[in-house]
Amino acid sequence: MTTVAFLGLGAIGRPMASRVAAAGFELTVWNRTPGRAREFAAQAGARAADTPAAAVRGADVVITCLSTSHNVAALLDGPDGILAGLRRGALFVDCTSGDPSTSARIAERLAEFGVAFIDAPVSGGTSGAEKGILTVMVGGEAAALERARPVLESFGRKIVHCGAVGAGDAVKAMNNAMLAIHVWSTGECLAALSRAGVDPKVALDVINASSGRSNTSENLFPERVLSRRFPRTFRLALLDKDIGIAAQVAREQKIASPVLQLTAELFRMAHAELGEDADHVEAVRVIERLGDTEIK
Ligand code: NDP
Repeated sequence: MTTVAFLGLGAIGRPMASRVAAAGFELTVWNRTPGRAREFAAQAGARAADTPAAAVRGADVVITCLSTSHNVAALLDGPDGILAGLRRGALFVDCTSGDPSTSARIAERLAEFGVAFIDAPVSGGTSGAEKGILTVMVGGEAAALERARPVLESFGRKIVHCGAVGAGDAVKAMNNAMLAIHVWSTGECLAALSRAGVDPKVALDVINASSGRSNTSENLFPERVLSRRFPRTFRLALLDKDIGIAAQVAREQKIASPVLQLTAELFRMAHAELGEDADHVEAVRVIERLGDTEIK
């Protein structure tokens, strides 16, 4: 029986951990806000631990799903930290949408303790996590991915080895950069059309049968912008983090990337204006404010 420790029961971590428990793995959870771990454990038939060290003690596979790679790195040390409980030979799977250089540092650190690391960020949103159909993009040794695969399959449908440690993070950041670009550009286009007197519902009907369509135009705008519901499933703060990582990767690789750099700036601005609790699609509120036009 593979025992799993899952650290980080946020918007996406929680349904992922649910799938791990439902797949029959023996599961221990830890969350910074302990009430969430206790409540989850009672509901999912898992064990809640008081500290990261206690959560990972004896685990075969440790999964983290925190806001940033820096949050993961900060949990390693100290008497209650992950390294104090981790057993030699365990496997560390970081499902955080992280940054490649921090992941590389974490992997090096864990290697000193005889623990293999893969970065395994996910895509597909909270609903994809609930259904167990996430895409998982993996960086690290292929053999480590194969060891993790049975657990990853509890929440992932498409599991892809992208390359060495950090490659999963890099692909994830670029995917989300494209999401950010879609959200912002779709917002600008529809605001202009609304101001010009075209019903945005009619405009989306056309676009979604034409070459400008995307998941953003097909799903996010009808469900969230036109409805003015803006449910919070993926925080704007996290998309700001992701596009920042993408812009940094492009800079490091010396790729001319004016669109990535500008989009990073726009999402930094939107995050500063709308705060920590806004959903990512609410970035269009900034476009609406600047243009004094509501897309509806
Ligand atoms: P949330 O903001 O909902 O939750 C963040 C989680 O990280 C919580 O468990 C939080 O604990 C914990 N956390 C934050 N900071 C720290 C810290 N310093 N130390 C310990 N724990 C910390 O985020 P999501 O669940 O939405 O996202 C998690 C990761 O998954 C992010 O990297 C995100 O980019 C990525 N992701 C999210 C998707 C989504 O649709 N939501 C989709 C794909 C990827 P606490 O409960 O105490 O706040």
